[in-house]
Amino acid sequence: MRIGFIGLGNMGGPMALNVLKAGHTMVVTDLRHELAKPHLAQGATWGDTPKAVAQVSEVVFTSLPGPREVEAVALGAGGILEGAARGTVYVDLSTNSATLIRKIHGVCAERGVDVLDAPVSGGVPGARSGKLAVLVGGDAALYRRVKPVLDSIGDKVTWVGSIGCGTVAKLVHNMVSACSRMAIAEGMTLGVKAGVAPEVLLDALSKGSFGQGRVLKDMIPNTVFPGAFDDVNFALKLLRKDVGLATELGREYHVPMMIAALAEQQLEEALRRGWGDKDSMTFFRLQEERAGVELRTGKRGA
Ligand code: NAD
Repeated sequence: MRIGFIGLGNMGGPMALNVLKAGHTMVVTDLRHELAKPHLAQGATWGDTPKAVAQVSEVVFTSLPGPREVEAVALGAGGILEGAARGTVYVDLSTNSATLIRKIHGVCAERGVDVLDAPVSGGVPGARSGKLAVLVGGDAALYRRVKPVLDSIGDKVTWVGSIGCGTVAKLVHNMVSACSRMAIAEGMTLGVKAGVAPEVLLDALSKGSFGQGRVLKDMIPNTVFPGAFDDVNFALKLLRKDVGLATELGREYHVPMMIAALAEQQLEEALRRGWGDKDSMTFFRLQEERAGVELRTGKRGA
């Protein structure tokens, strides 16, 4: 296939090299010409603008810092839409705004240009080794057509729904990752200040049910999805007791724990609802109420 690749930074550079290695012809561009050196050495050619890249490509990829750059490169002067013929496919690999990629999809559709959002996860090592998770949103038949190219940059390429859904999934992933890491920072500073060695504490965290990944692998699919809050594995009142003991320890050792304090208040509210003897995952219902959405699939398992 004739591939265009715009944005050869930390992620885009190695991803583009892997697409080249898979045997596609490629035209590349970036604001920094020097980043294209390895690609040009492997047979790629240079395009002066995103428009010039799109003019000679069947599939155009972008890997750009964020929404501002993506909008300018896709829709701006000298951008992809100015150069793309009808039937060209534009795939955005950046971590972008879901609303913006949906807008770009709409504008491009009027000109016969197809769009997928395909943000990636796995960092620079994953980009180099071709072992990225790629979360794709857009038309399913179009996804199947482009998947062989996506397979050259990731080993976990997944279709997650209509246009923008890849981005939604990626943003949820990174938000959850950030919040979890902050809770772990609170927990580890508490544990170390209260006497446990850092590496021993990390090992203890890794061996427990949280560290074993049971929230994602078991509790959400088997308790939240079927709404099986009366099948009690661990009572909510016991989780509330444990978080209370941890925040008490934090006060003794003068460790500020903002996330734990919030968790404690949520569990207190769940207790007030009379859910103490239900499963600890019942607190999900508080957030479901606030968000106005339920996470039920009606069956057990993901
Ligand atoms: P980067 O800043 O290294 O690369 C972005 C590239 O885009 C740069 O080389 C820049 O010169 C180029 N660029 C900017 N504006 C341009 C324009 N108008 N025309 C042509 N080129 C332009 O960033 P990165 O780390 O490679 O990240 C790229 C995207 O991937 C981001 O959206 C990021 O959030 C996402 N991401 C990054 C990682 C990571 O670990 N670095 C992991 C997953 C996802």
